[in-house]
Amino acid sequence: MSGNTAKLNAFPVFMRVDGRRVVIIGGGDEALAKARLMAQSSAEVVVVDPAPEAELVRWAADNGVLVLHQAYGPDLLDGATLVFAATGEEKADKAVVADARARHIPANAVDRPELCDFFTPALVNRAPVAVAIGTEGAGPVLAQMIRAAVDRMLSPSLGALASLAASYRDRVEETVPRGAPRRRFWKSFFNGATARSMARGDEAGAVAATEKLLATKGSEAGHIALVGAGPGAEDLLTLRAQRLLMEADVIVHDALVPEAVVAMGRRDAERMHAGKRKGCHSKTQGEINALLVELGREGKRVVRLKCGDPLVFGRAGEEMAALREAGISYEVVPGITAAFAAAADFELPLTLRGVASSMVFTTGHDLKGHALPDWAKLAVAGATVAVYMGRTTAAEVAGRLQDAGLSPDTAVAVVENASLGNRRLAHGTLADLPALADRSDMTGPVLTIIGDAVAGANFNHSEPLSAHARVPQLPALV
Ligand code: SAH
Repeated sequence: MSGNTAKLNAFPVFMRVDGRRVVIIGGGDEALAKARLMAQSSAEVVVVDPAPEAELVRWAADNGVLVLHQAYGPDLLDGATLVFAATGEEKADKAVVADARARHIPANAVDRPELCDFFTPALVNRAPVAVAIGTEGAGPVLAQMIRAAVDRMLSPSLGALASLAASYRDRVEETVPRGAPRRRFWKSFFNGATARSMARGDEAGAVAATEKLLATKGSEAGHIALVGAGPGAEDLLTLRAQRLLMEADVIVHDALVPEAVVAMGRRDAERMHAGKRKGCHSKTQGEINALLVELGREGKRVVRLKCGDPLVFGRAGEEMAALREAGISYEVVPGITAAFAAAADFELPLTLRGVASSMVFTTGHDLKGHALPDWAKLAVAGATVAVYMGRTTAAEVAGRLQDAGLSPDTAVAVVENASLGNRRLAHGTLADLPALADRSDMTGPVLTIIGDAVAGANFNHSEPLSAHARVPQLPALV
């Protein structure tokens, strides 16, 4: 069978049902399922059964659906637009279908495809936009899987956006020349500032953005989204991040963002490497700020992808300040920060009742000079400490915490490549931590968690840090 020539035995159409009658014969689960589906439309839904189940009656009352408590008779179908036979009995369903056909009304018999004139789809409803998925009854589970995937792709505010578009159709036709300019206008409308306002639930903002777009005849201003790519696993990306990636003209990403996530964007999107990995800065922060401003001025939709969460050791503060100063619109999309991914890998409760009720995000890189960092006091008071970028400074971190009074027996958990298939877990005590600095075999990003809450972790998949204990330096033999 060739995929290109295969013919559909059931062809999808969108049927007008507004204010028309849809009759469902039956009073059990199947009837309720069809009533629920049809209640997503503005049809007048009527369910007929001499003894409908209580759940159906309750649901119908709550949803403005009429239930007729009476025996079936063919004249109940008169004037209906669609008929469902959902009695649960083959003979009765057959009779209903025959009566419907005699009246030239299309009929569906639940779970009896051979009796059906039409099938109901798996439905993604963003009224007035609908996506209907059909498999001609071959795979309801497959249809539901596709439905879930499509549902994730479409913004929850798409319906409101489409309704706004409909209200602007006439004005756009008067104002924006047909052809390429009008296509560009609608692309900007559905992708740009109007869509962003609608997604925030700001309808007035959406109208204002549309007016602006009309005034400029569809040429859109640039927009930068500072997006958290999560810790590495591509399915730890948020749905919003994924949607923005699909829409971006340009993706500017850091070194730690995995290729699989960068690849999620449109094939023709431009991808730029902003570099920044310890020891190999390919662009300075100033250059990155300037690049974002320039792309924004060119009217590009940019996704600035950062690993983890953009607001945690991501230098997003400087990028936002540059964009604000240049008057370029931007937004921030949170991501799962490395500490959360590492804790999940270790099944480690970051807060633990009666043990740890606060949390510190810190880095080993602020330990210049001799003053104790103030987070050391929090650690002593029982906070759970997550140390970012802390491998090479492990010895200093451990030393300072002990100087501050934290016991050398305090539990420590270390995760390299959190959330990824090649992750490695190690555990030990504060006294063991200095060994981490010598672990040149750990080339991936490393996150360290310190505190009593670590004792609640699962160490089954972890090796002891002490297995790599520092070898004491022997005095040279003279
Ligand atoms: N914005 C990022 C942090 C950037 S700083 C976030 O929210 O996670 C870079 C540091 O993050 C690395 O040195 C490492 O300490 C940590 N990190 C990032 N991804 C990691 C991962 N998959 N596993 C362990 N640590 C990670």
